[in-house]
Amino acid sequence: MFENLSERLGGVFERLTKQGALSEDDVKTALREVRVALLEADVSLPVARDFVGRVQEKATGQAVTKSVTPGQQVVKIVHDELVATLTGEGDPGTLKIDNPPAPILMVGLQGGGKTTTTAKLAKRLTEREGKRVLMASLDVNRPAAMEQLQILGVQIGVDTLPIVKGETPVAIAKRAKTQASLGGYDVYMLDTAGRLSIDDELMAQVEAVRDVANPRETLLVVDGLTGQDAVTTAENFDERIGITGVVLTRMDGDGRGGAALSMRAVTGKPIRFVGLGEKMDALETFEPDRIAGRILGMGDIVSLVEKAQETIEAEQAERMMKRFQKGQFNMNDLRMQLDQMLKMGGMEGMMGMLPGAKKMAAQAQGAGIDDKMLKRQIALIQSMTKKERAAPQILQASRKKRIAAGAGLEVRELNQLLKMHRQMSDMMKKMGKGGMLKQAMKGMM
Ligand code: GDP
Repeated sequence: MFENLSERLGGVFERLTKQGALSEDDVKTALREVRVALLEADVSLPVARDFVGRVQEKATGQAVTKSVTPGQQVVKIVHDELVATLTGEGDPGTLKIDNPPAPILMVGLQGGGKTTTTAKLAKRLTEREGKRVLMASLDVNRPAAMEQLQILGVQIGVDTLPIVKGETPVAIAKRAKTQASLGGYDVYMLDTAGRLSIDDELMAQVEAVRDVANPRETLLVVDGLTGQDAVTTAENFDERIGITGVVLTRMDGDGRGGAALSMRAVTGKPIRFVGLGEKMDALETFEPDRIAGRILGMGDIVSLVEKAQETIEAEQAERMMKRFQKGQFNMNDLRMQLDQMLKMGGMEGMMGMLPGAKKMAAQAQGAGIDDKMLKRQIALIQSMTKKERAAPQILQASRKKRIAAGAGLEVRELNQLLKMHRQMSDMMKKMGKGGMLKQAMKGMM
């Protein structure tokens, strides 16, 4: 899905980088790709369109900003807008549970993770907020549902309402309320029954429960992997029951969070928590920043920025090559090459990196040149003044003595370095004339 976003934007941003500034057309092109990618991540069309429109407005305002990496600029604007869209009012992790016992109604389709989330949330409230929680299953349709909650309750050390067979969901809700009051609980959670799809009977049942319980929070639990279906589910539940928030489960899966964006944009309801696994502590407060990163693919942003930087480095190399062709190869250039050689693993890595390097590397190996030698050469260059590095031809005996002494080395070694520099610089001049330098440098990039 979003793997493509990186590639698509990569191409667009490469062009942007070359131009160096952000024009309206550039932004439009980039955003077309963003829109397609959003759609592929299961963001609904109106939401994607609206989103891109807002980014367009913001980005074009910055169109004249001279930026080293306009791509980064666009991604940042897209990212910020995602965060803004995903952010609700207040802290998503704070539930309205003052005035004990506070009822929390858990609703959703079957298999969305409702029972699991009920237990996860109960554990969280108990452990993090020191609340006394009572859980009750109202699922009279699925035989094992009540036992499932009970088992989870034992596992996490949270009380469940004793199971009484044959009761209606409304009757169980009433009993839970009484039990919670008498037992001095801070919170009681009502885990309602789900269905495979939304039907009137389910809604009527949940409505009836809602009316007796008068919940402080009604949380819809939906499978985050179902994308557009999750949004439709949320719309339906909100219309009939009225929800105060959403819990997106299975966010540990492959989904890239597109549902979160649509969900928030379409229903206007805050996403409060995300489920990140089957374990009881795999529940986290919803963080817009994180989901935005996921929707864009944080790795993608990083690689995009890197891509942009590479382009800039290539331009620098091009400028460097032009100087080489004119025979302007100074000690700073040599120092850069030596550093690179060290970084690339010494003489071995130098193979094919620079024109003439192969031959030199072979010679060097014969002469016992190794990393230590490279370091000594770098030390010699470091010992030179700025002027000497830019124009090594000015080096006379007294300067040579000073430089060698500064590096703690012999003049003989400095002479070797200077000879190497002269050879390289000659070779480049020659190759530059034949156009071979350009080819050699290409191989380097
Ligand atoms: P319910 O029918 O809505 O009550 O769904 P359940 O709570 O029984 O969950 C259905 C399945 O989804 C169970 O196997 C859960 O362990 C699993 N599940 C729930 N939440 C998550 C989650 O966040 N990540 C993953 N990977 N699985 C989950």
